[in-house]
Amino acid sequence: RKYQSVALIIGVTGIVGNSLAEILPFADTPGGPWKVYGVARRPRPIWQADHLIEYIQCDVFNEQETLEKLSVLTDVTHIFYVTWASKPTEAENCFVNGSMLRNVLNTMIPNAANLQHICLQTGRKHYLGSFESMGKIQPHESPFHEDLPRLNAINFYHTLEDLLFDQVGKKEGLTWSVHRPGLIFGFSPSSLMNVVGTLCVYATICKHQGLPLIFPGDRVAWDGYWDASDADLVAEHQIWAAVDPNAKNEAFNCSNGDVFKWKHLWNSLAEQFEIENYGIEEEGDKRLSLVEMMKDMGPVWDEIVREKELVPTRLEEVAAWWIVDLCFQGASFLDTMNKSKEHGFVGFRNTKNSFIYWIDKMKAHKIVP
Ligand code: NDP
Repeated sequence: RKYQSVALIIGVTGIVGNSLAEILPFADTPGGPWKVYGVARRPRPIWQADHLIEYIQCDVFNEQETLEKLSVLTDVTHIFYVTWASKPTEAENCFVNGSMLRNVLNTMIPNAANLQHICLQTGRKHYLGSFESMGKIQPHESPFHEDLPRLNAINFYHTLEDLLFDQVGKKEGLTWSVHRPGLIFGFSPSSLMNVVGTLCVYATICKHQGLPLIFPGDRVAWDGYWDASDADLVAEHQIWAAVDPNAKNEAFNCSNGDVFKWKHLWNSLAEQFEIENYGIEEEGDKRLSLVEMMKDMGPVWDEIVREKELVPTRLEEVAAWWIVDLCFQGASFLDTMNKSKEHGFVGFRNTKNSFIYWIDKMKAHKIVP
């Protein structure tokens, strides 16, 4: 078969990687027909078995392994970099994440003669500061737009951008784009931060234990305006930037284009898992910590997986309690999609529909009952 474009997805089983792996092979995807290579460390999961990709197991933190396994992919035309490693300090994040991207680019730029474009996914912490710096530095004022200067604090997103700019300069005609989603709603039981997946697991445990589905956040988070970034939309945004000349060498925010309130999505979550008793704790500002509440639930999860004949997963793989604890406090920070629209990307999602779509996907793949 003759392909027009050849994609290399680094982080193919992640929350956006999985959407790219599904969408790129479609017959009507811009830039297609696409041949797709996908990279992750773990073996190919059964929930990704249907996607028409060539799966490559490779740890891109390992320089030698990256060179051996990726230098043979000489036909790659586009790289989608949708991976990251989470380390205890931001200095370590800069080192490890920088090494991963450097290994990929050092391998691909000299070996893939037709390489045209690199999409780098970072995120809204570009404007908020790293997890480590939160509460210590003043974030930008929202709604965030792409022209804001970098915050004056170390951030592995700066490391990645600088590396990208530097490496792209080494090959004439090679272009880049940076994509900055907010909270991503998507499907991946291999993701380090999957909020919808984590909430599905929380709801499943509440249902199983006969517990009320309490919002594990404060009232400001419950009542305030939020936005989200649908994983398929983020994938479409990256594919747009990969093929459209108007999107070259620019950074773009990427969010759904509407706002929502958790108190409304909480109804949907309760409905989807048939839980009648749900809401926020009424006493003052008291809030639950899911990390605390769920710390001994591993055996309960194992029992649910057995009883409901789910795809075998461990609780720590499918639930990132820490991210929910971290996000669901205080006001949210919105971005603006004006720049993407002005450059020609008019994609959007209805966030409530997106939330339910990803819950359905979790059920359809038997990750939750
Ligand atoms: P995920 O955590 O969902 O996925 C990471 C992917 O990379 C997985 O496929 C993982 O599989 C793979 N991977 C991890 N380490 C390696 C490695 N050393 N070598 C090869 N593959 C590896 O990624 P996200 O999409 O969440 O994150 C990408 C970027 O998006 C990050 O910068 C993140 O901060 C940002 N972001 C994420 C948001 C979210 O809600 N998730 C929100 C906004 C921004 P395996 O473990 O098997 O290797």
